[in-house]
Amino acid sequence: ATPLSVMVSTGRAAQMGVLIRSAEALELSGHVNAVVLDKTGTITAGRPSLTDVLPLGAWRSNTDGLLALAAGAEHDSEHPLAAAIVAEAEQRGLAPGDSQREAFQVHAGLGVTCTVDGHAVAVGNTDLIDRLDVGMPSVGNEDLDDIIADMERLSEQGKTPMLAAVDGELAGIIAVADTVKPDSAQAIDALRSHGITVTMLTGDNETTASAVARQVGVDHVIAGVRPENKADEIARLQAQGYTVAMVGDGINDAPALARADVGFAIGTGTDVAIQSADVTLMSGSLMGLVHEIDLAHAALRNIG
Ligand code: ADP
Ligand code: MG
Repeated sequence: ATPLSVMVSTGRAAQMGVLIRSAEALELSGHVNAVVLDKTGTITAGRPSLTDVLPLGAWRSNTDGLLALAAGAEHDSEHPLAAAIVAEAEQRGLAPGDSQREAFQVHAGLGVTCTVDGHAVAVGNTDLIDRLDVGMPSVGNEDLDDIIADMERLSEQGKTPMLAAVDGELAGIIAVADTVKPDSAQAIDALRSHGITVTMLTGDNETTASAVARQVGVDHVIAGVRPENKADEIARLQAQGYTVAMVGDGINDAPALARADVGFAIGTGTDVAIQSADVTLMSGSLMGLVHEIDLAHAALRNIG
């Protein structure tokens, strides 16, 4: 039978919007000594907005033209980065929804490709551009070192820079930035003062991830992780003897949430994440995780 103290703690958690699926999940939470946090949508609000468009080559004098094609390509993507690009294009009156779109393809953890108004468009990270065999612009005198330096500078500001390619040539850099949730730093600080190791796990690049990690006080960062490899990082910590809690919001996080000793889904996240988790943080605040761990400790003390 479920100990009364576990039922009491589960009830208290529910009152705080922390839904615990099983007594076992609560008990395991009391033994957690490593917490792994997804970045986008978990530590940050997950509603990034566009900050920079740096057009290249023939697009130097046509920023809006480039943005319209990029937003057309991203129109049918569900990724928060895509939403930021589409929202900015709409705000500039570029009507990406009216574009002619064909062969839209999502490349998980990389970006998207789509034929937009007859142009082959790609938007994504450097790995996507590498795979697509994209060349330098044939117009103008662009320098690859300058492009790389621009991306590095944007990353150091905590922004996520993406590359856009049109018809097989680099066409620009598009950067978006997300804000950290108001109490992420407080929650991470509380976890660390409980002696819990806190790690950020993200598909985003190392420099951007480190900039965000500094803002919230996370000391371990695992960046550039492909969606299919997130669960492996959890297993690696478990192999080192840690009892691991993972918090995430995306479809990408579902296997890692299932792999963790206790999986926590952000309530505003995707259904797949919620279904794969043991606990749902309804408000989306990481303080819910801290309260749940505190309640788990209280329940364990009472069980003795
Ligand atoms: P996270 O773990 O931060 O949620 P993802 O695994 O979803 O990140 O994506 C990793 C990286 O792949 C992003 O930082 C971005 O560079 C690129 N990417 C993913 N989806 C898109 C998209 N729709 N448009 C552009 N770039 C994308
Ligand atoms: Mg996420």
